[in-house]
Amino acid sequence: MAATNCGGLKSVEDRFYSKWSDRQTVTTTENNVDVAEIAKFDALASRWWDPAGSFRPLHQINPLRLDFIRQRCTLSAAQVLDVGCGGGILAESMSQQGASVTGIDMAESPLTVARLHQAESGTNVTYLQSTAEGLAENRSQEFDVVTCLEMLEHVPSPTAVIAACARLVKPGGDVFFSTINRNPKSFLFAIIGAEYVLRLLPAGTHHYDKFIRPSELESWARHAGLELRSSTGMHYNPLTQEYSLGPNVDVNYLMHYQRPADL
Ligand code: SAH
Repeated sequence: MAATNCGGLKSVEDRFYSKWSDRQTVTTTENNVDVAEIAKFDALASRWWDPAGSFRPLHQINPLRLDFIRQRCTLSAAQVLDVGCGGGILAESMSQQGASVTGIDMAESPLTVARLHQAESGTNVTYLQSTAEGLAENRSQEFDVVTCLEMLEHVPSPTAVIAACARLVKPGGDVFFSTINRNPKSFLFAIIGAEYVLRLLPAGTHHYDKFIRPSELESWARHAGLELRSSTGMHYNPLTQEYSLGPNVDVNYLMHYQRPADL
């Protein structure tokens, strides 16, 4: 039944994207980068820090997710890696908490914007163009905290990113993931609602088939040696135009994992 639903939704979504038929869908699985996705973020980069622009939802959820992170690990003086950092909204806010932050992304323009922005804000994040898998080759077990928010749904193999994050974090360290659940409600809220009705995000930001069920994320993370500590949903109220955290993980959700300490 669920599979039929999802198939139906997929074809509805395909119709939504038929006007995007020139969309480049080149995927280089070798380095786990979807070139079309990177091009999308490159094109929007100049608007990254506009609190009313294309990335408004990221600005709005940032205090909530920063609180979620701060309540579960120590940021002050911690070595933190932000995977898929974009223009640096989360990375800067963690740096302001006293963390020594490295932000990595594969899109060049958001990294340029991030570097320019921190010159204004006075933060001190190190920005690198890299995948998590690439960084894990020579910097494994280097970070106290690894964050990878709103990024897994934009890569060909989220499971490879999760495994790389598990390698990058120190034993006993914390890893945070956020993404979007895959079910009829999330299709309605995260794609139809957010992109076409309320226009919170540009049309085409998300693809339904890239959404990830919490059970899938949990099984990939467990496989990578991470242990689930807590999870929360992120909800948007169109009446108040505000986000809040709550137990329901039907649409957007955030998860906290730990790599067990070596015995
Ligand atoms: N994590 C940030 C930005 C989310 S947008 C935040 O929540 O505020 C998703 C980001 O992931 C984009 O900047 C995009 O360029 C980046 N990205 C997509 N695929 C990537 C990959 N394979 N490696 C690194 N970054 C990637």
